[in-house]
Amino acid sequence: MTTDPGAGRAEVVVDLDAIAANTAVLRERVARPLMAVVKADGYGHGLVPAARAVLAGGADELGVAVIDEALALRAAGVTAPVLAWLNGPDADYPAALAADVEVSVNAGWGLADVAAAARSTGRTARVHLAVDTGLSREGAPPDEWPDLVAAAARAQADGDVAVVGLWSHMAYADAPTHPTIGAQVRVFEEAVAVARAAGLTDARRHLANSAATLALPDTWYDLVRPGIALYGLDPMGGDPARHGLRPAMTVRAQVALTKRVPAGVGVSYGHTYSPDRETTLALVPVGYADGVPRSLGNRAPVLAAGAQRTIAGRVCMDQFVLDIGDDAIAAGDEVVLWGPGDAGEPTAQQWADAADTIHYELVTRVGGRFVRRYVGTAGAV
Ligand SMILES: *Cc1c(COP(=O)(O)O)cnc(C)c1O
Repeated sequence: MTTDPGAGRAEVVVDLDAIAANTAVLRERVARPLMAVVKADGYGHGLVPAARAVLAGGADELGVAVIDEALALRAAGVTAPVLAWLNGPDADYPAALAADVEVSVNAGWGLADVAAAARSTGRTARVHLAVDTGLSREGAPPDEWPDLVAAAARAQADGDVAVVGLWSHMAYADAPTHPTIGAQVRVFEEAVAVARAAGLTDARRHLANSAATLALPDTWYDLVRPGIALYGLDPMGGDPARHGLRPAMTVRAQVALTKRVPAGVGVSYGHTYSPDRETTLALVPVGYADGVPRSLGNRAPVLAAGAQRTIAGRVCMDQFVLDIGDDAIAAGDEVVLWGPGDAGEPTAQQWADAADTIHYELVTRVGGRFVRRYVGTAGAV
């Protein structure tokens, strides 16, 4: 996806002021440091503009999955603290340390790699240790944790690393009463106690993603780590306005062609849609190659000619069709796939429900030939 300053054929419009305002809402709510997660190209909003907007909104630091994302932030001149947490055997720790990027470690071998990079670069690595408290994803399992923290304490005494974080990730924070939450918190607190007993007393604790930042104050500890809520989407699937959040992304396109057709024509591949009356069809020039899920044929709503219309027939690679009835529409008119929802357009949540997925997947996958355009000034250079 390219970035373009002018209105275009098919565009993802990103409201930087909404991202900054959402960040400020969360930062004020938690009243402690906030690590804004900008992985996956800022959840599809653009890595660097999203990073600048969250920092303008009061984020204290940034979180990304992989070191390359952190290096891209540094290359763009972003100087805020950055943590990269998903590091495998190929992780380029020397590059991370040279760029002052904090890294997370899951296991003794990862710690050894980081310590080696510290010695080769002459820098002390700022390290976060991840513990698996029940997601069974990243982090050391509890039975490996004592050895990992002991090794980390030795590496810290040697001056190779400074352990600045102890963290974990939650399985069910979007269901705030789920019993796994208390169980994960208990495992986390035991892990913290083990680390502190091993001498890692300066590390900050962090556990809360967006859902926990919104709903679970007991998980906030020393730092929160929200992502999706910064972009104005409710991780619990509700109306983000109830949390004071506003969606930052609007996905729109210009109608490429309209035509009047008789009742009974077959529309798009496989003729899975057929109007039962004479009608006007509008051709929208985006398709599954641009991140419009093919599964949404005959399912997703689109705002066109003043009303929401369900996509007519299959979504193709480059285009889909809408049935506009007898309403007025012309080539060049705007249609809106999703947006904040307050101008009659569908929301990303409505699209997610129609696609049987979560809005995270939609916003991170929209791309292809869409052009990204920024509105608002927060963090703009
Ligand atoms: C993606 C991610 C987050 C942010 O999650 P949201 O649900 O978007 O708030 C936080 N921590 C980790 C480890 C993640 O992978």
